[in-house]
Amino acid sequence: MKKGIDVGGSFIKVLWEDGKREKVYVRNVSKNKEAFVERLREIIREGNPTKVGIAVAGFTSLEGVVYRSPNIPALDGVDIKKLLLEEGISGFVLNDVSAGAFGEWYYDHRDSRNLLFVAIGTGLGAGFVCEGRVFLGSCGSALELGHHIVEKDGELCSCGRRGCLEAYCSSYGLERIYKKLSAGESLKDYQIVLRAKEGDQKAQEAIETFKDYLTIGLMNAVHIFNPDRVVLGGGLIQQLREFMDDMETRLKKAVEAFPSQCFKLDFSKCGEFCMARGALALALADDR
Ligand SMILES: [Zn+2]
Repeated sequence: MKKGIDVGGSFIKVLWEDGKREKVYVRNVSKNKEAFVERLREIIREGNPTKVGIAVAGFTSLEGVVYRSPNIPALDGVDIKKLLLEEGISGFVLNDVSAGAFGEWYYDHRDSRNLLFVAIGTGLGAGFVCEGRVFLGSCGSALELGHHIVEKDGELCSCGRRGCLEAYCSSYGLERIYKKLSAGESLKDYQIVLRAKEGDQKAQEAIETFKDYLTIGLMNAVHIFNPDRVVLGGGLIQQLREFMDDMETRLKKAVEAFPSQCFKLDFSKCGEFCMARGALALALADDR
C-alpha cells in the first residue's frame, strides 16, 4: 500500500491510501539531525509501504535533497531520496506546497490544465501544476511566490528582504498589520480573526489590508502563469474563509481582461492533511 508523508517542523503527518491518518510530534527533535532523521526513517518504513511520497517544508532539490528548511534545521542538507533508497522503497520528495498543489489537481481539479495553489499560514507558499505535472523550475525551487516583492522598502520578511508578499500575507504579516492599525496592540492571528467576526473595525480593516496585498500578489502570479484555476488554502485562509467570498471578484477586477476570463478562484477543502494528501497523490500517480 502507498502512503504520503508531510514533514513539518512540529508534526510529521502520514496519510495512507486507505485513508488512515497519523500525526507524529517531532518538535522536540527538530534541531537534532540524527534523532530527526532516525524518526523520519522509522515513519517511512512503518507498515511496509510499496511507494512513498514525501512533502518537505523547505527548499528541496529535484534530486530529493533538502537544501535548507527554515522550520526544521535538522533537515538542512539531508538527502531524503537516499533515505528512501536505503529502506528499499521507491518514491518522490518534493517541497510541501508543490506536493499540495499536485494533490489539489489530482483529487479536486483534474479538469484544470494550469493550476496555481497558494497556501497561507505561518508563511506563504505556492505550487503550480501544468498539464498534470508539477512545475519545479531548474533546481526545484520554483513558485517562491511568498518572496516576490509587492512593496518597495516595505515590511521585513522572514527571508530578510523587505516588502515580500509573505511580509503581509501570513500569520505574522496579519499580526503586524493589526498592530500598526491599533497603535501597538499585539494579537495572535486567530484573535484578530475572532475580533473581526465580532465586528471589531480595526480587525476588519487589518483583514482588508491583508486582502489588498493578496490581490496584488495573486494578480502578479496570474499575469505570469495565466492559470485556469487559482486555489487558496492553508490554515490562515481556512480561518479567514468567511471574509474571502469577494476574492475572486477583486482578483478578476485587478487582472488584465483577457487572462481574467480564463480562471476561477477556489478554496482548498482538504484541511491539515493537504500536503500529505499531495504526497500520497504523487505516489499514486506513479508514472510521474
Ligand atoms: Zn521574503
